Amino acid sequence: MIHETSIQGLVQGVGFRPFIYLLAEEMGIKGSVANRNNGVIICAELSEEQQEQFIHRIRTEHPPTASIHRIEIKELQKTENVFTDFSIIQSYSESDEVTQVAPDIAVCDNCLNDRKTQPHRIQYPFVNCTHCGPRFSIIRDLPYDRKQTTMSDFEMCSTCRSEYTNIRDRRFHAQPVACNQCGPKYYYTKPSGEEENDYRKILDLCVRFLNDGKVIAIKGIGGYHLVCDATNESAVNQLRKIKIRDTKPFALMFKNVKSLSSYVFLNKEEETNLKSWRRPIVLLKQRPTENHFPIASGVNPGMRTLGCMLPYMPIHYDWFQQIESPAFVMTSGNLNDQPIIVTPEEAEQQLGNQVALVLHHNRPIHNRVDDSVLQVCGNVACLIRRSRGYAPEPFFADIQTEGILAFGAEKTNTFALGKGDTIIQSQHIGDLKNEETFSFYTESMNRFQRLFRFTPRLLACDLHPDYLSSIHAETMASEKQIPLIKVQHHHAHAVACMLEHHLNQPVIAVVWDGTGLGDDGAAWGGEFFLCDRKGYTRLAYPEYVPMPGGDKAALEPWRMTVAYLHHYQLPIPEIFLKRIGKEKIEKVIDLMNKKINSPLTSSIGRLFDGFASLIGICDTATRQAEAAVVLEQCADESCLLGYPIETSGNLISFRLLFQNALNDLEANVSAAIMAAKFHNTLANLIVEKVKQLSLETGIKQVVVSGGCFQNKRLTEQVQQLFSDSGISLYLPSQIPCNDGGVAVGQLAVAAARMHPACQN
Ligand SMILES: [Zn+2]
Ligand SMILES: [Zn+2]
Repeated sequence: MIHETSIQGLVQGVGFRPFIYLLAEEMGIKGSVANRNNGVIICAELSEEQQEQFIHRIRTEHPPTASIHRIEIKELQKTENVFTDFSIIQSYSESDEVTQVAPDIAVCDNCLNDRKTQPHRIQYPFVNCTHCGPRFSIIRDLPYDRKQTTMSDFEMCSTCRSEYTNIRDRRFHAQPVACNQCGPKYYYTKPSGEEENDYRKILDLCVRFLNDGKVIAIKGIGGYHLVCDATNESAVNQLRKIKIRDTKPFALMFKNVKSLSSYVFLNKEEETNLKSWRRPIVLLKQRPTENHFPIASGVNPGMRTLGCMLPYMPIHYDWFQQIESPAFVMTSGNLNDQPIIVTPEEAEQQLGNQVALVLHHNRPIHNRVDDSVLQVCGNVACLIRRSRGYAPEPFFADIQTEGILAFGAEKTNTFALGKGDTIIQSQHIGDLKNEETFSFYTESMNRFQRLFRFTPRLLACDLHPDYLSSIHAETMASEKQIPLIKVQHHHAHAVACMLEHHLNQPVIAVVWDGTGLGDDGAAWGGEFFLCDRKGYTRLAYPEYVPMPGGDKAALEPWRMTVAYLHHYQLPIPEIFLKRIGKEKIEKVIDLMNKKINSPLTSSIGRLFDGFASLIGICDTATRQAEAAVVLEQCADESCLLGYPIETSGNLISFRLLFQNALNDLEANVSAAIMAAKFHNTLANLIVEKVKQLSLETGIKQVVVSGGCFQNKRLTEQVQQLFSDSGISLYLPSQIPCNDGGVAVGQLAVAAARMHPACQN
């Protein structure tokens, strides 16, 4: 019997076809394997028994970086004995055009070993194979072929070529294959203007500088990093000066799990993610330090968590071989929150005068990708920034998405495009208000469209007309005469999570974040929806309060404190008055009374702000959501108390919360206890409200999303409280809960509205 097996998932650019070939050969199967749109297709002559075993072995033995989403098997009406052997065949027809791009993959153990044993790769720092190495960052065009990557200028030596063409070799069709003779090299420019490219000398210099507490810049996979010894306080302070960054924590790279585990608590899921080939930064809880080499306090001032990752390029391993310190700071090489630097020219120009060494390599970075960030809540890995190692792996939408382009939100932007029945999300872009970031946005959008052979037929953007992404969408819609759908911000958050969990029936969605424009013109952000993929009903939300100064309120949390107290007609506490100043407070009250620049909001992000400033831990913020982070980090971990909440109908009031908090302040209750009570209150509010709404609607599935759920404490409390409630809780995992996930939601809403028949 001839079977046609199509396999969807991450199966291209990861050594899947050679795997199938060798497996078929081992099992004595005749047939062929080829790449197709979004997958591979196998035609094979199989007995019933062979078929079962073949599929089982594909599922269980596939290359570590591959993942299988779906396997479909068809019996073909063909006579037997059409195949004489098993072969890898090319497919040329346009409809079969390959559109899958693998993410960048951390160097694998076999390659690290080859650096010790293969004569042409001794200590070679850009070693890679069919299962590891750069992918997305070097791809200029498809099909994924060396000449379409930034490796095109490197001609393979005869040894590499023989590996590349031998199906039994680990480097069969490994497009970036390279060695000491023919591959990319590190280099730096000496003061004399001469270039040094002797790897041993370069390594020695890095080691000397890092040991001496200097900051160095180095070109990585998707951009430059700034690096220094994480146990050296003055080196870390020096790095802060360079980055002009007050308190935002730096990410660390540890030598290995063993050295890391004496600094942080680590559960199984966290360890799995740390060690995964995707090599994200994982946010971990710091242990009380009693180490020989304590981490410098300047790494994460005021925080209990450390962002940690493991080495993913050979040079990282080489540093740790020679340096005693267990960890380096590895932060993205950029200034003023601009996009991460990718070219040697920019690196020299912007960082040259600030660091001891700018180390380049001559493999150009085509697609910029930052390190990805995640944290584990309960046992769910929740991506916070989806970039290197993840982008542009598609999400399977189970609905036609072809031709839909979604523009995303404003801060933490990503965009997304629809291809077949998948959604391809861009790498992390950043805050579009930054001019350079906006250029990165438009450039990446053009590149994605070309790379994925994408023609936009339907556009989706946020309801907010002032988002630069919305303006960009409007422009494209009118220039190219393409219809544009505007999607409410929180609905997009909810639907992104529904898509990830393949939820097609209506759900209760709790979407809490900073702000997103509501359909009544107010700034929403504390929403309880009944929604499906096409639309929503707003079931409950917090009473509106003014946001004096508009966007300014997000950076000056004290304004929200005044707003809540004024709104609930509660007194301004003496200690707060003293700290902020009577005049400033009166000015803000005046703004609100005269309704000048005081849009109304139901945002829980702003509630975090107002509460943080009330208890005296964050009056002004230097970055987005800082108050919420400080509040989470300072909260006492054992306190189970909370504040009362009033609800009337679909409105939630925080009057009693603030009134009781004022009493606590009066009674000198500590900020840690008050912060804990605040978190407990919100977690209870979610669960109680959802239980009530579930009874009213009969719906037993709840989706939780929005930037507030980057708060691990809140999220884990909610997980805990729902665990025995009979209500199924769905959290965003692979699609960030923050605005980095909005584009996917917009796209899914547009797809659902465009293809109503595909629903349910
Ligand atoms: Zn490898
Ligand atoms: Zn070579």
